[in-house]
Amino acid sequence: MEELQKALSDKGLIVSSTPEKGRCLFTTRDFSPGEVIITEEPYVSVPNKSAKCEWCFTSNNLKKCSACHVVCYCGNTCQKSDWKLHRVECQALSKVDKERIKSITPSIRLMVKLYLRRKLQDEKVIPITIMDNYNLVESLVSHMTDIDEKQLVLYAQMANLVSLILQWPEINVKEIAKNFSKFSCNAHTICDAELKPLGTGLYPVVSIINHSCLPNSVLIFEGRMAVVRAVQHIPKGTEVSISYIEMAGSTATRQKALKEQYLFSCTCIRCIKLGQNDDVQESAVLEGYRCKDRRCSGFLLRDSGNKGFTCQLCGLFRDKEEIKNIINEIQSLSEKASFSLSYGHNKDVSVMYKMIEKLQLKLYHQLSINLMRTRENLLKVLMKVQDWKEALKYCRLTIPVYESKLTLSKALRYFYLAVNILMFLA
Ligand SMILES: [Zn+2]
Ligand SMILES: [Zn+2]
Ligand SMILES: [Zn+2]
Ligand SMILES: [Zn+2]
Repeated sequence: MEELQKALSDKGLIVSSTPEKGRCLFTTRDFSPGEVIITEEPYVSVPNKSAKCEWCFTSNNLKKCSACHVVCYCGNTCQKSDWKLHRVECQALSKVDKERIKSITPSIRLMVKLYLRRKLQDEKVIPITIMDNYNLVESLVSHMTDIDEKQLVLYAQMANLVSLILQWPEINVKEIAKNFSKFSCNAHTICDAELKPLGTGLYPVVSIINHSCLPNSVLIFEGRMAVVRAVQHIPKGTEVSISYIEMAGSTATRQKALKEQYLFSCTCIRCIKLGQNDDVQESAVLEGYRCKDRRCSGFLLRDSGNKGFTCQLCGLFRDKEEIKNIINEIQSLSEKASFSLSYGHNKDVSVMYKMIEKLQLKLYHQLSINLMRTRENLLKVLMKVQDWKEALKYCRLTIPVYESKLTLSKALRYFYLAVNILMFLA
């Protein structure tokens, strides 16, 4: 820990702890907007289900490892970079029978790699550094006492499979189960520039950074490397915060997501407003319906008689049945769209998404989450069919939504995406 503190102090950072939050990362100097606060390579990482290079996560020119037939590489360079770890993983995987290999999920592999990496570092095959050692993983929170029975049983089963793959007589299955719980609170989804999830990585130093629904920093990925950047001026002595979840949700939705996945109740400055007037209004705009009068920007609240909703600006009533009919139409279109999507009929899908968007505009506010999701899906399909002009239009529509919800990281990603599309159009 002392060594880590020293390494961090060179970067203008310090690890502190509070009784409510546990460990926190604080600044010991000012950071400017856009400045890199910290970067970290994953302690271990694994691509998600679809085939990708184990080292760089590309989907191009893949060749399966000829020994285990589980892991893929895009070429010799990546295979060599991963060899010290994969050599031992490969031996373990090669001994697993074919049927069982199919049941090995990315999280099982991530755990196997965690144990192998620890062993290789103990044996000094892989060098230990201050930012790259198992002690950092050891000090991550696991929230074991908050996990329900069902989840514990699942972790135990997964731990047994890990032990079966490793075949180490001295292995502690209970500890593996605890580490699965650590993964669920600490592992990060690695995304590409188009926001597509590529895999999962464990970044024990970045994991010290706590969540806020109004964060001063953002976590992005450059390849597998985690990069934390300031999104505003951060004065000396401030806690560095990032958001663990989609910040566009209402306070109730965000709190539910944090409780379910990260097992804590957020008490950030946005969350303590729960139930106050401006929070009620924000939730109604994000997740509620719009006024029946297209020119009115009022938000609706449920009628006491439960027959519908009343606009809080002009007083116009909106019938529950009318809303239900539109929702049903959207539902049946969505089902058709996902069916067509599974067959790769992307042109048809884009037409259906546009119809859904039109219907949603009748129901929701411009900043509504449902509308934003549809537009994000539409954007993805438009890129697949290489309709760059239309893609750019939806990219531009998505930026202000994220800007307004202070999800600057996402707004920025869409901005970069728009720039990329513009280059295609040029
Ligand atoms: Zn590669
Ligand atoms: Zn192999
Ligand atoms: Zn919060
Ligand atoms: Zn109105």
